[in-house]
Amino acid sequence: MKIGIPRALLYHRYDVLWTTYFRELGFEVIVSPVTNKTILEDGDRYSIDENCLSSKLFFGHVSALIGKCDYIFVPRIANYGNEGVLCSRFEALYDIAVNTFRDKGTEFITCDVDVQQKKPELVAFSNLALQFGKTYSEGARAYEAAKQAAQEAQQKKIEAQEALLAQDGIKILVVGHSYNLHDTYIGKPIVSALQKLDAIPLLADAVNLDAVRTRYTNICKDVPWMVNRELVGAIDQYHDDVDGIILITAFPCGPDSMLNEMIIRRVKDKPILNLLLDSQDGNAGIETRLESFVDIIRFRKGAQV
Ligand code: SF4
Repeated sequence: MKIGIPRALLYHRYDVLWTTYFRELGFEVIVSPVTNKTILEDGDRYSIDENCLSSKLFFGHVSALIGKCDYIFVPRIANYGNEGVLCSRFEALYDIAVNTFRDKGTEFITCDVDVQQKKPELVAFSNLALQFGKTYSEGARAYEAAKQAAQEAQQKKIEAQEALLAQDGIKILVVGHSYNLHDTYIGKPIVSALQKLDAIPLLADAVNLDAVRTRYTNICKDVPWMVNRELVGAIDQYHDDVDGIILITAFPCGPDSMLNEMIIRRVKDKPILNLLLDSQDGNAGIETRLESFVDIIRFRKGAQV
């Protein structure tokens, strides 16, 4: 049995959890390739114009898995209770994928995470196992092992970032959803460009997520979206350690456009660069803006010495 997972959207947050879970159940996992031109064009083709760039890429990644696996895994994730809701796209994604690819002979599989409706991850993944003829307990065991592996992987990311933080140099916090920060089309070129400019990029998702989720209120009180709470909390955590902040948003993202505006109004003592990316311009012109941004920071730091 081969389970396909699109390398897009929440895969970049839950990669270890999802892949470990399926492997623990004895399945082979196929992840779509990193974003390339074909995936980008397919994503555009299978999406409506109103979709954000990140979800357009998701449909390109689904397309890349067709014919290569027995099931494509697309969970429905609505909320994590008091920790916040997710963007409504994540609740609709499975149904949209099933409808979009209905004539491709592809089977999709899902599970529902909705803590407000008493469906936490443990229940969702234990029930998911039943769909493969496994028992509820086997599903629960696979989930617990996957959760443990995911926590260890996150701890390694945090330690790597702490080592960067200890280095001398211009430090810039890059703030965006994991699927934007780690995508080869959206965030990775920005991180590489900063490194080439001799700056040290720190990523807003390489943090203790539980800890940052409790401190977003220091900057902004009313944030319904869980991931945006974490991003604002990461800004609060790193505020005194970084020389500047870059906000990366995939056009047209509702949650980010609201929150970025709020961040720019509230965080006035750090240079902030707001980058809005869409499938038309890709990264054209971004390098020049990054160069100017790093120059401004260098100048400010020089002026402070
Ligand atoms: S939060 Fe924004 S970028 Fe993410 S899926 Fe929703 S609209 Fe797209």
